[in-house]
Amino acid sequence: MFESLSEKLSGILDKLTGRGALSEEDVNAAMREVRRALLEADVALEVVRSFVDRTRTRAIGAAVIKSVKPGQMVVKIVHDSLVETLGRESQAIDLNAPAPVAIMLVGLQGAGKTTTAAKIAKRLAERDRRKVLMASLDVKRPAAQEQLAILGRQVGVDTLPIIPGQDPVEIARRAEAAARLQGYDVVLLDTAGRTHVDEPLMEEMAQIRDAAHPHEVLLVADALTGQDAVNLAKSFNERVGLTGIVLTRMDGDGRGGAALSMRAVTGKPIKLLGVGEKMDAVEDFHPSRLADRILG
Ligand code: GDP
Repeated sequence: MFESLSEKLSGILDKLTGRGALSEEDVNAAMREVRRALLEADVALEVVRSFVDRTRTRAIGAAVIKSVKPGQMVVKIVHDSLVETLGRESQAIDLNAPAPVAIMLVGLQGAGKTTTAAKIAKRLAERDRRKVLMASLDVKRPAAQEQLAILGRQVGVDTLPIIPGQDPVEIARRAEAAARLQGYDVVLLDTAGRTHVDEPLMEEMAQIRDAAHPHEVLLVADALTGQDAVNLAKSFNERVGLTGIVLTRMDGDGRGGAALSMRAVTGKPIKLLGVGEKMDAVEDFHPSRLADRILG
């Protein structure tokens, strides 16, 4: 039967209750379980190492407190360290800039960019009462711009009229001008993806960034791709500069290891989670909830 990490830790350590403080060896045994569980959850090795070292030091230091069950105490220390690694606070999309505020979505093909653009637009329009314009800068995939227009109609958000033959930078400039003229608060720019990271993609993203001056550059990444998503975040952050991350397919059965690694590797906050295909299947990211999910 599947035993969660918190059950395993409690199992190992609570046997020791009554013996007083935990020994260093007890803590090490628990940390081996933590290490294994994080690797199974597809957390990057370097992140696991520094996490386990830090948590071990805390657990040994705290082990002198005898008033709680040692298992529960170590579970709490692991939980708190996870939350710390994940960024403690949830961070919303930042709209604190002169209108129109540009938000650029980047990522690989199939990661969920277009879907996420429409989900975010719907949320900003309905919940935050913003006037939102969406524009697809994907001129590679023939149906991409039309796909965004269809989703826009579905969620009741305007999309920039399609003019065939324009390049992504021209579309970005036209979107900004239209937004300015027509009083939009937010412009959401959905960019083209590729099946893998390559220089032409990065170059295109950098050019769009320089033309559109986005206040937010959000990487949309598939949580189920684990380590690949982490490498992707690293590349995009170095080359284009990210302000945050949206992890999609969190409704799948990944344990959330990608989230832990991404935050640790890029230092950029995870801002939203995609949790399904429907237009309202998007959630704010709560570090504590994800820590619970990793602990099981
Ligand atoms: P893009 O190529 O990055 O623009 O990706 P799309 O937005 O076209 O999404 C690709 C597929 O993933 C579509 O079938 C979406 O419905 C699906 N998708 C997007 N986000 C999620 C999510 O959070 N959960 C699930 N289960 N499916 C998603």
